Amino acid sequence: MLILISDAFDNSLSDTLTKFGEVTDDKSRIAEAEVVLIRSKTKVTKEYIDSAKNLKLVIRGGVGLDNVDREYASVRGIAVHNTPAASAIAVAECAFTLMIGITNHVGRADSSMREGKWIKKELKRTELYRKTLGIIGLGRIGTELAKRGSAFGMTVVAYDPFVDDSDYAEMKLEMKGVLNISDYVSLHLPLNDSTTGIINSETLKEFKDGSFLINTGRGKTIIEEDVAATLQSGKLSGFGNDVWYSDPPGSNPFADLPNVLMMPHLGASTKENLLRIGVIIENIINEYVNN
Ligand code: NAD
Repeated sequence: MLILISDAFDNSLSDTLTKFGEVTDDKSRIAEAEVVLIRSKTKVTKEYIDSAKNLKLVIRGGVGLDNVDREYASVRGIAVHNTPAASAIAVAECAFTLMIGITNHVGRADSSMREGKWIKKELKRTELYRKTLGIIGLGRIGTELAKRGSAFGMTVVAYDPFVDDSDYAEMKLEMKGVLNISDYVSLHLPLNDSTTGIINSETLKEFKDGSFLINTGRGKTIIEEDVAATLQSGKLSGFGNDVWYSDPPGSNPFADLPNVLMMPHLGASTKENLLRIGVIIENIINEYVNN
C-alpha cells in the first residue's frame, strides 16, 4: 500500500505510518497512491480523483471537507474522512490571539518599534474584561472560545440555529441579536450556501458601533470589500483575520488598513494539533487496513 502525504503534517507522521506500507510525499506518484493525506492545500477535485487510479481512502487533517469533491469520491468508491475533533483548542486560541492582539494594537506597536517610532499616544489599548463577546456558530471551536471569553470576565452570547442551549453562552434566536450588542464578534461557521457572504454590507449595519470582527472560520463567509469599507468608515474598530478566499489570497483589501491583524491561515497549525491529527489518522488507517 502506498500512502501519499500531500500536505504539511508533523514530521513524525511519515515514520508512524510506515508500519502500514510505503509512505511518500512525492505528489507525482498520485496514480499509485491508495491513501492520500491532505490538509487545505491539496484540492481533491474530479480531475484529481481521475488521476488517482488506485485511490481508496482520503483523510483530511482538519475540520471542513470543502476541498474534497465528496460526491465524485463516493461515485468512485473512495472513503473520505476528516479529523473534526482535533483542532478546536488550536483554532479557539487563534481567535483569542487575534481578539487580544487587535484590541491591544500588537501588530502596529511591534512594527512601529522596529521602525524606530514611538507612537505611544496613538495606541490606546482596550480591555476585554466586561466586554461582550458574540459568537456566530457555537460548535466545537465556538464553545472553546466561549470558555476562554468567560475566563477573561467577558459576557458571552451566541447565535447558532442548531444549538438551543449552552453552558457557556447565552443563546440568541437571531444573528442580529448578537451583532447588535457585541463588542467582539467571532465567526466559527462552516462554509455552505447559507453561510457564504453572511457578513455583508447589510449585516454589517447591525454591528455595534466601534466593535471588532474576528474570523477564523472560512474566508468566504464574509464579503471582504464590505468589511474593508466598514473598517474605513470607523463603524468597525478592527478586524482580526486568519482565513481567506484562497490560500494565499489573490488580492487583499485589508493590506493597507492599519486596524487589521492578519494571519496566513494558522488556526490549526499548532505542533500539538498536528500531533493529535496524526494519532487520529493512524487510527483511521488502522481501521481501514483491518476491515
Ligand atoms: P462545528 O461543526 O463543530 O461548528 C460549526 C457550528 O456552526 C455548528 O454548531 C453549526 O450548527 C453552526 N452553524 C451552521 N450554520 C450556521 C448559521 N447559518 N449560523 C450560525 N451558526 C451556524 O465546527 P467547528 O469544529 O467548530 O469548526 C468551525 C469552522 O472553523 C469550520 O467549519 C472551519 O470552517 C473552521 N476552521 C478553521 C480553521 C483555521 O485554520 N482557521 C481550522 C479548523 C476549522
